Amino acid sequence: MRDWLFISDLHLDPERPEIIHLFERFVDKIAIHADRLYILGDFLEYWLGDDDQAAGLDAAFKSLKKLSDSGTDVFFMAGNRDFLVGESLARKCGFKIIDEPYIETIHGQATLLMHGDTLCTDDVAYQSFRAVIRNKKWQDEVLSKSLEERQQLAQSMRTQSKQANTEKTEYIMDVNQDTVIASMQQYSVNLLIHGHTHRKAIHHFEINDQTATRIVLGDWHEHGCYLRVNEKSEPELFSFK
Ligand code: MN
Repeated sequence: MRDWLFISDLHLDPERPEIIHLFERFVDKIAIHADRLYILGDFLEYWLGDDDQAAGLDAAFKSLKKLSDSGTDVFFMAGNRDFLVGESLARKCGFKIIDEPYIETIHGQATLLMHGDTLCTDDVAYQSFRAVIRNKKWQDEVLSKSLEERQQLAQSMRTQSKQANTEKTEYIMDVNQDTVIASMQQYSVNLLIHGHTHRKAIHHFEINDQTATRIVLGDWHEHGCYLRVNEKSEPELFSFK
């Protein structure tokens, strides 16, 4: 097995073209040599539905297509920003949509893949908001609106979320360790990989006297970040520029 790579929280946005260029370089220099690329949510800053022309993101979509055409299997899990990504964008970019929570076997080890927002259970207000936006009926209703109406809705949701987050403590916006352990026990795994919190780290702890590991992917800001897993070495987080 060659490398399997994991990324999340690129928050690609036509207003930040430098991060789109960074992603193109990541594909050309690194991901193209990998067997698999897993995107664990918030690849896009927002997505209004697959009918959005999203001209400013075209370079990123072409890059993904080039990657999958070259033989790297690409998997996409939605985050709290890009949950309206559908099958037609998946076809255009050549990725396979996977639903959360997703169990993948890595070197014979069952591994739980998540975006990570469901682990932040101390943020009660966010969890009730999430229940609304991830409801299929709500999503179908939103998708039936015009693109312009959806743009307005996304704008007001982002403003509200920014306001709410400035009032929350750092502690509330991180994962809840009890929820982490409960989720890992529920799916009988000792390894969990997620993003969302932008707190890049590899945490080791114990569950029932066994070593458990939680790997948090970093966001893409001045640097890119990816996790590399292969047979030869321990999982490792890299910065990329
Ligand atoms: Mn997120």
